Amino acid sequence: MSKSKIAPSPQLLEIPQEHLNIMGYVDESEVNGPGSRAVVWLQGCSRECDRCFNTQSWSFEINQLISVNELIEKILANPRNTGVTFSGGEPFWQASALTQIAIKVKESGLNVMSFTGFTLEQLQSENAPIASQELLGQLDILIDGAFVKSLAVNAPKSLVSSANQKVHIFNPDFKDQLDWASDQVEIHILKDGSRIITGFHGSLN
Ligand code: SF4
Repeated sequence: MSKSKIAPSPQLLEIPQEHLNIMGYVDESEVNGPGSRAVVWLQGCSRECDRCFNTQSWSFEINQLISVNELIEKILANPRNTGVTFSGGEPFWQASALTQIAIKVKESGLNVMSFTGFTLEQLQSENAPIASQELLGQLDILIDGAFVKSLAVNAPKSLVSSANQKVHIFNPDFKDQLDWASDQVEIHILKDGSRIITGFHGSLN
């Protein structure tokens, strides 16, 4: 029942309906899933994993609000995006709005993948964040589990950052496309001059 669904931060309640609080966004990434992808980094994660590469994503304070419709338009405006990846922060704390985005971009032929610090079992339990099941139902690929420093995998070709994490292929079309990991780093320079660095040694969830 929904009464058992406890959010980690009251600031999640400050996000207006049909909006997301994001840390960052890039188009045409080739190191965050199969093909060329839009990547949405969600703001807010309560895990505080030792050696997290993305500590700026931890705060649940409002960082950048964007409406679901605006984000859908942004993703679809770039014809080179063949898929979308949700990363973080913790995407599943904003699963309801992400589900709406996933449904719309899939209607336009894109595929959808997400990272999460939860395990798949936790996301399937009754204590999972609101709308977790709905978001899981839209995903082609899920990479689950928090980063554990003692289990760190330092191999550039590995799809996971620590050995406890698992790659779940929900859409069998992708079972032969698990080759995006590399020793490459992408540096995306945004219109405002800020940079997002992602890939091996870059952002991870
Ligand atoms: S590694 Fe991922 S799950 Fe862990 S604190 Fe960083 S963003 Fe959160």
